[in-house]
Amino acid sequence: MVAPPGAGKGTQAARLAEHFGIAHIASGDLLRSEVAAGTALGREAAAYLDRGDLVPDRVVLDMLVGRVAQAADAGGFILDGFPRTLAQAQAAYELAQPRDIALDAVIALEVPPEELWARMSARAAAEGRADDTQAVFEHRLAIYDEQTKPLLNFYDERGLLQKVDGARSVDEVFADIVGVLEDLSVS
Ligand code: AMP
Repeated sequence: MVAPPGAGKGTQAARLAEHFGIAHIASGDLLRSEVAAGTALGREAAAYLDRGDLVPDRVVLDMLVGRVAQAADAGGFILDGFPRTLAQAQAAYELAQPRDIALDAVIALEVPPEELWARMSARAAAEGRADDTQAVFEHRLAIYDEQTKPLLNFYDERGLLQKVDGARSVDEVFADIVGVLEDLSVS
């Protein structure tokens, strides 16, 4: 799933994973767990998360490769928050190809920028995430536009991109994504 911060990709990814009985691999959640557990990886990643900057590609890739390979063997996965740069997408493809792991679809959740902060501030109140302040949010949105948005073209050119209107209720968006995936017969 590819979406700007606050678009609801974590919520949708968790529901989709449950619905299809596959793994939900959320790079941000995994990084926050590493930070909370005080591991070496967490100590390296913490400052990036606090600032809303992207953690270096190598750190994220090392964290994910084994998990994705294992999930692929077990029946499939939804990647939530990865890849976030063209370099990550390219590296992931190079690691996945020899292991016979491929993406069936890339879901882009589209939500207008003015709606994103409204959603994000609600989450900030509910979850108290350190990177949900308005200043960090704006920085994350700028990083999304600069570094992550180019992935939309990248996957569109490869015939994988499916755009979904994310500016509706959680249930409506979910039903739409399930419909898109069923039409592709990936489920
Ligand atoms: P998220 O929970 O997806 O909003 O991610 C929270 C934060 O984790 C991001 O702002 C980044 O600091 C970091 N992060 C998550 N996924 C990645 C990734 N694929 N590459 C680099 N940094 C990431």
